[in-house]
Amino acid sequence: MSEQKKLRPASAVVAAGRPPITADGELNPSISLNSTFHAPNEVGYGRYGNPTWSALEDAISALEGGRTLVFGSGMAAISAVFNILPRGAVVTASKHGYSGTMSLLKKLVEAERIEVRYVDVSNTDEVLAALPGTVMLWLESPTNPAMEVADLPAIIGAAKMMNIGVGVDNTFATALNQQPLAMGADISMNSVTKFLSGHSDVLMGSLSTNDSALFTRLEEQRKLGGAIPGPFESWLALRGIRTLAIRMKQSQESALELADRLSKHPKVAKVRYPGLPSDPHHETAKKFMKSFGAVISFEIHGTPADADKVCGASTLISQATSLGGVESLWERRHRWSAESPSIPENLIRLSVGIEDVEDLWADIDSALGYY
Ligand SMILES: *Cc1c(COP(=O)(O)O)cnc(C)c1O
Repeated sequence: MSEQKKLRPASAVVAAGRPPITADGELNPSISLNSTFHAPNEVGYGRYGNPTWSALEDAISALEGGRTLVFGSGMAAISAVFNILPRGAVVTASKHGYSGTMSLLKKLVEAERIEVRYVDVSNTDEVLAALPGTVMLWLESPTNPAMEVADLPAIIGAAKMMNIGVGVDNTFATALNQQPLAMGADISMNSVTKFLSGHSDVLMGSLSTNDSALFTRLEEQRKLGGAIPGPFESWLALRGIRTLAIRMKQSQESALELADRLSKHPKVAKVRYPGLPSDPHHETAKKFMKSFGAVISFEIHGTPADADKVCGASTLISQATSLGGVESLWERRHRWSAESPSIPENLIRLSVGIEDVEDLWADIDSALGYY
């Protein structure tokens, strides 16, 4: 292949992370099952690096920009970031967010390791007012599972003017829809477990950054924390990311259609999907998001027990936690005790997969008839 022009994201994820071209060389990277490598060398040992990780990291970097480190899970990646904060650091963070992140922050505060100011990320004035004295701003947008949208360009810009470190959990949107590093963020994080790998068969996380000193500190966290991915899982995630653009396209198209139909259903009280023109966050989202992801949350006119009945009554959509796979999943979020008290008890989160949208709607409509 001759020198390539800068590729668009859908092509970049297919082309990136391939071995160099040689006669009869491999088209795909191999699964490098090695705990060690011959000296003299740079990587040296399997906790420091692995060629299959590197291939996946190149593919994620092709989307996010910067350089990428992969970890054994999304939480391992987030923990690495919080581990490099100095003792007593003040962090501003989304008050709604992934329940694991929320639990981690709570534990770090209880241990007097850091201080956290919680903000409604969809209220830019509230976020900006919390920033003075903050060392790091940790954003999630759209938030899990409230689907609030932060005005990322405005907030990241203001935080960087104040020299505050900014990390964005980009899991719900993916870099196909928004690129935090291009907006000035220091770190873009993904739970690779979700849309990037896309088949609900691996757990993995990633951190991407343009800042080489920060990269080195995070890499050291991975080496010493040891929360590394397996080579086979990395290969599966790389195989999954090749189809990210086409999966997202289908899932997003169906999500918009289902959100619209849900919003008109007599048993549904409220729908949150930033792609719906009637959604309170649509105006903000459309300023900078290319499309709006494939997660919907909605509340029924009914009790939490009714919501459980609905989720248990589907035959195509699985009642299970997680999101971002080819298969649609839903659950009542408060079946988890770690879910934030300000999330409604009967809220159902639906992750839209790539099944035929009419089969999905038939399943949803029939399940809503079960209470
Ligand atoms: C799932 C998820 C995580 C955690 O990722 P794991 O791979 O499960 O550790 C973090 N943030 C968001 C938004 C998630 O959905």
